[in-house]
Amino acid sequence: MKITAITIFPEYFAPIKLSLIGKAIESKLIDFKTVDLREFTHDNHRTVDDTPYGGGAGMVMKPEPWGEAIDAELESSEDVLDLVILTPSGTRFNQAFANKLVNSKKLVFACGRYEGIDARVAQHYEKVDGVRVHEVSIGDYVLNGGEVAALVMIEAITRLIPGVIGNPESLLQESHNEIGEVEYPVYTKPSNWRGLEVPEVLTSGNHGEIARWRRQEGLRRSELLRKSE
Ligand code: SAM
Repeated sequence: MKITAITIFPEYFAPIKLSLIGKAIESKLIDFKTVDLREFTHDNHRTVDDTPYGGGAGMVMKPEPWGEAIDAELESSEDVLDLVILTPSGTRFNQAFANKLVNSKKLVFACGRYEGIDARVAQHYEKVDGVRVHEVSIGDYVLNGGEVAALVMIEAITRLIPGVIGNPESLLQESHNEIGEVEYPVYTKPSNWRGLEVPEVLTSGNHGEIARWRRQEGLRRSELLRKSE
């Protein structure tokens, strides 16, 4: 999978080299790069923002550098490009969305700043052949920029690529599966920690009982979660 993050802060993506995703990049399962949006400006100040039409606080990201940066990705790609425009007003990202995007060959993340990206960028690429536009939010809160949101999405998507996670079985029993449940609580040694015992069933060696208990606990937690929403 090829992934590009277009940003005015390429340094934000330094942690991508760590841990499992870092290893997946090294072993070429993922081809990741950042693109500095300012490279696509043509003035001495490398301006990427301007005042909003209609007035109001803050600045809006200009469409021209975005257009040039995204066109460059499109021109250099033989694959359909999934263009993820990060915005708090987009479709909420979730596990089902990650499962869908893992089939993409080329993901491009447009990381906004200021008051966001001129709305015509999404409008334009919706009509361009070879591009699928996704306006995406990672949750109902406002971040300063899309970089952290892109990192969240990249991690959730790329861990689903075969070979990225050491033991693929760990993906099978995770929270937020197709039926919307969360995982059972997990424990390791010691069996007593600060007076707290591991549930007896887990040390019983009875695999049928363990599976039943885990299922019940997953359902109980899912129910609690739904009530708290
Ligand atoms: N004025 C915008 C609004 O109220 O919808 C917020 C802009 S925010 C300060 C700047 C950038 O951060 C956005 O363009 C987007 O790229 C990113 N961002 C902020 N919150 C986000 C979220 N919940 N999910 C995804 N991206 C987010």
